[in-house]
Amino acid sequence: MRTLRNLVAILVMLTVVRATGAQKKEAAPAHVPAPSEFLGFQVGGDRTLADYKQIGSYFRALAAASNRVEIEVLGKTTLGEEMFMAVISSPENLHNKARYKEIARKLADPRGMTREQIDALAHEGKAILLITCNIHSTEIGSSQMAMEWAHRLATAQDAETLHRLNDSIVLLVPSLNPDGETMVTDWYRKYLGTKYEGGPMPYLYHHYVGHDDNRDWFMLTQIETKNVNRMVYHEWYPQFWLDEHQMGYTGPRIYIPPNADPVAKLVNPLVHRGNNLMGATMGWRLEEAGKSGVIYGYSFDAYWPGGTRNTGWWKNMYGVLTEVASAHIATPIEVAPTELQGGQKGLITYEQQINFPNPWPGGVWRLRDIMDYELLISDAALETVTKYRPDLLRGVASMAEHAVESADAAAYWRIPTEDQSDPVRAARLAALMAEHGVEVHLGADKKSFMIPLAQPYGRFADEMMGIQRYPEVRPAANSGILEPYDVAAWSLPLMMGVKAEKIEAAPAEMPSPAPLAAIPWPASGLNGTGKYYQVADHQNNVFALINAMQSAGGQVFLAHKSGEMTWVIFAAHPQLAAEVERLHLLLRARADLPEGAIALKPVRVGLYKPYIASMDEGWTRFILEQYGYKLKNIENKEVKAGNLNAAYDAIILPDTSRSVIVDGRGGFGEGGGGEEFPPEYTGGIGKEGLKALREFVENGGTLITLAGSCAVIPGEEFNLPVRNIFAAGEGGRGDSSAPFNIPGSLLRVNVDTSHPVGYGMADQIDVFFDAPIAFQTSPPPAEIKRSVIAWYPENSKDILVSGYARGAERLERRAAAVSFTKGKGKVVMFGFRPQFRAQTEGTFQLLFNTILWAGM
Ligand SMILES: [Zn+2]
Repeated sequence: MRTLRNLVAILVMLTVVRATGAQKKEAAPAHVPAPSEFLGFQVGGDRTLADYKQIGSYFRALAAASNRVEIEVLGKTTLGEEMFMAVISSPENLHNKARYKEIARKLADPRGMTREQIDALAHEGKAILLITCNIHSTEIGSSQMAMEWAHRLATAQDAETLHRLNDSIVLLVPSLNPDGETMVTDWYRKYLGTKYEGGPMPYLYHHYVGHDDNRDWFMLTQIETKNVNRMVYHEWYPQFWLDEHQMGYTGPRIYIPPNADPVAKLVNPLVHRGNNLMGATMGWRLEEAGKSGVIYGYSFDAYWPGGTRNTGWWKNMYGVLTEVASAHIATPIEVAPTELQGGQKGLITYEQQINFPNPWPGGVWRLRDIMDYELLISDAALETVTKYRPDLLRGVASMAEHAVESADAAAYWRIPTEDQSDPVRAARLAALMAEHGVEVHLGADKKSFMIPLAQPYGRFADEMMGIQRYPEVRPAANSGILEPYDVAAWSLPLMMGVKAEKIEAAPAEMPSPAPLAAIPWPASGLNGTGKYYQVADHQNNVFALINAMQSAGGQVFLAHKSGEMTWVIFAAHPQLAAEVERLHLLLRARADLPEGAIALKPVRVGLYKPYIASMDEGWTRFILEQYGYKLKNIENKEVKAGNLNAAYDAIILPDTSRSVIVDGRGGFGEGGGGEEFPPEYTGGIGKEGLKALREFVENGGTLITLAGSCAVIPGEEFNLPVRNIFAAGEGGRGDSSAPFNIPGSLLRVNVDTSHPVGYGMADQIDVFFDAPIAFQTSPPPAEIKRSVIAWYPENSKDILVSGYARGAERLERRAAAVSFTKGKGKVVMFGFRPQFRAQTEGTFQLLFNTILWAGM
C-alpha cells in the first residue's frame, strides 16, 4: 500500500514538472553540478583524466539537471560501449527539435522551393553546429573540455549565451572513439608515476584501425563512422562541423582555418569562405584572450575527403578542423625555445609570419592549456554560427542548388549490375553511395544503378566515382610541389574493382523516377540439385563462403585449368543454402567433381602484431574477420619461440618497417615519438625471430609480406634473389623534391592469372601504391621457383590510373608482387597493399588467394 501511494505521489510530481515545463526550471534552475564537483577531482588538472564512463555519467547528470541538455545515443562502438552525443540548446528549441531537423533537411535539399521559401526557412531555422571530439584517443583534451563547455552552456545566464542558445542547436560528441578513450585513460593511469607516464601505447587505440579511424569517412567501414554518418546525413543535417584534434608539441599551439593548399576542384568555394570566417573568429578570440602560437594555412590541406568534416565539404557542409599542441596526455611538458620548429607546409622555419603573427615562445604546456584553447574555439564556433545564422543556412541551400544547377541534367554515373566480375561489389558501391545520402536510381533496363550528378550530393558522388589528378601547387617557381596531407586517390570503382562509367550525354536509359530506398542485391541461391555446387572464384564473398563452409565441416574444392575460369566447388551441405543467401552468391549444381579438382584445407592464419602498433595490422585483421577467416595475432615472443608450423599454415607480416619487426624501433607510434615502452613491450623478433620465420617456410609454411614488411626478406636469413629497387628512404612520404614520388595512388599492373595468387583476377588490375617498393628478381638456384605475380607496364604513361606519380618510369617492367617456393614452403611479397584501409576491394582477392594457396 505504502509503495503504491509513494508511486502515485511520484507520478503526480512528475506530471507537475512536465506540465510547468521549461519555464519553471529556467526561473529556479536545479543545481547543475560542474564536472569537477560531480566527478570529485579537478577536471583538466595535471595528471588527471576522466574516462569515458565518467564522461558519460557526467553528461547524463547534466541532462537530468538542465533543460538545455539532452542525450542522444548514436549506437554501439566496436567493443560494445554506448556512443552518445549531447544536444544543447534553449529548452524551447529542444522542445521543437523535430521542426528544426526538418528545416535543416529541407535546406540541405532545397529542390522545388522558391527563393522566398528558402529565405523564410533560413530565418526560422536554427544553426546546427556539430562539434566532435577525441576521434584520436591520445588527443584527449577535447573529451575533457566537452564536459566543461557543456556545463557552461547549461548554466550561463548572460544575455549573449542565452541569445546563442536560442539561435542554435549544438550537437556535441565528447568522443568519436569511446573505446579508445577508455584504452588511453587506462594506460595512462596504469603507468602514472613511473618513467613510462604519458608515453605511447603498444597497441592501436581503435580495436581495428587506430589513428586511421579518421581515414574512414568516405568508405564507412567502421561502426563508429557509420553511426555518425547516419546522424549527420540522414537525421540532423548540421550546417557546420567542427572537429577538434591535437598535434605535436614542438610547433604552433593551435591550427585554425584557412586550410593549406591544395584545394579540391569540386568543393563549392563558399565552404572555404564559411570555414575561414569561423577561423577568423577563432583567431580573433584567441589573440584577444592572450593566447599565442595561433597559425592558419598550415599542414592540413583542402583536398582530401577522408576525414570527418572533410567528407561533408562535397555535400555542401561547412567543416573545420582544429589542432591544438599536445602535452604527454595529462602530464605537462616543457618545451625549450630551441626545440620549437616549423618544417611543415605553411611554416618552414619557426618564426613570425602573417599566418603566425604571435609565435609561442616555449615553456610549460599542459592539459589545462589545451582545454583553454579549445573552450575559446568552441565558443568562437558558436559565436560564428549564431552571428551569421541565416547566411549560413541560406549558404547550404544555395550550394545545394548550385550543385544541382551546375551539373549537366543528363549526366549520370552508371554502375552496371551485370557484366561485373563481382556483382556484389557493384551493389556494395551503390549501397555505399546511398549510405552517404546520395540518391541512387535503378536504370529503366533494371540492369544498372544510375547516380545523377544533378542532385545536392552530386559533387560528392562525382568525386568518389571519378579519377583524381593531384594538383601541382608549388610555393615557389623552382620548388617541389606541395605534398598531399594524406593520399592522392580514392576512385571507388577502381579501388573496388567495379565497372562504372560516366555518361555525359543524355542517357539512352532513364532511371526510375524515385531513388531506391534500398539497394537490391544480385540474385542468389542454389541453382539445381546435385552432390556439388560450383561458383566462379572471382567474387570476394566466395572466400567468405569457403571459410563459413569449412567452419561448418563442409568440403570445398578448387578446379583450375589453364586459360579457363577457376571454380570453387562446395559439397552439398545442410548449411550451404543459408550461407549462400547471406553472401548473395549464386551457385550452380553439378553431379561430380571435375578432373583435377583439389580439396582445400582450412588454413590457420597468423597475423603478426608489432608493439609499435601497425594500422595495417588492424585493417588486415578487420578484413579477414569480416570474411570469416580464423586468425590469431602473433606477437614477438611467440615468433621468437619458433616451431610456428605447429600452429600456423600462413603468417602475414602487415605493412610496417624492418626495424619495427626486427628491433621494435622506428615507425609511427601513436602517442608521440621517442618515448620508451615498458620492458614487456620492447624489442622486436630479433635474429631468432627471423630464423624462426625462415624455418617456418622451410617446413612448408607460407610467409606473406605486405609493403614495408617485404624488407625482412632480402638479406642472409632468407637468401632469396630479390631486392627492392628503391634504396631505403628514397622517395619516402613527404619528400616532394625526390625524383620519385607516388603518395597514395592507384597504379596499373599486369597479373599472371595462371599463378594461384592471380587466379580469377583480370589480366590488368589497379593497385594501391603508397610506398616506394618495387622488386628486381634474378634467376634463382634450381631448388627454388620464382614467380612474378604482378608487374608494372612497359611504358610509364600506362602506369598511373588515379592520383599522382612522379618518376613512374622507375617502375617500368618492375615486379609489384612476387613469390618464391621451395618444396611446400612459400614466400609471397606484395610491394603494394592489396587490402589498403579496407578500401581496395578489387584486390582483396590477391590476399585471399594467397591464403588459399597456403593450404594447397
Ligand atoms: Zn588527430
